[in-house]
Amino acid sequence: MAGKKKKVGEFASSKKSVIADRVHPKDFHEEFMMYSCEQCSHFAPKAEKCTLGFPAHLHRKAVQLKRYYINGHMTFCRFLEID
Ligand code: SF4
Repeated sequence: MAGKKKKVGEFASSKKSVIADRVHPKDFHEEFMMYSCEQCSHFAPKAEKCTLGFPAHLHRKAVQLKRYYINGHMTFCRFLEID
């Protein structure tokens, strides 16, 4: 159907949506993964925003974990950085 958006969990899927990558359970459970804004140097915790202006709501820990437990995917931010 033209114009109808499909839903993956609560996240709308369209041509403009972010890419969600499949996460292998072994990687999730056995390795220290960097996947959320809370782990990133560019995250301002008090403001709960990305200091680079990216949409942090897509990469927050709670959202990432919810997405992973729903469909085994996460939306990794390509600009996530650790000190
Ligand atoms: S760079 Fe990406 S991971 Fe880091 S705070 Fe901004 S949106 Fe989050």
